[in-house]
Amino acid sequence: MHTVVTELCSGCDVCLPPCPVDCIEMVPAVGADAIWGQSRADAARERFERRGSRHERERRERAERLAAAGAQGEADPDAEKKRAIIQAAIERARARRQGT
Ligand code: SF4
Repeated sequence: MHTVVTELCSGCDVCLPPCPVDCIEMVPAVGADAIWGQSRADAARERFERRGSRHERERRERAERLAAAGAQGEADPDAEKKRAIIQAAIERARARRQGT
């Protein structure tokens, strides 16, 4: 569950399309909230840049973990079982689609 922190929201609307239940409503800001000064804009830019850095770090760490796992020859012990479950689900979906 996501929460909009009203004081930090810039009103960019980016969160609207991905919301699966259309529960976000953009309401025009009034009074002091309607005016973003330089300090709020700078703080928003800093959060945006930190987010980019975090995503980059997470991507790099994931790639390193995958590389380390591959280098050690580690394999998922449940891989065959997972493949069978997925294949069975695909076949059930196909059968339903074909009405059999
Ligand atoms: S994505 Fe944009 S509109 Fe949605 S909460 Fe964040 S800043 Fe506000």
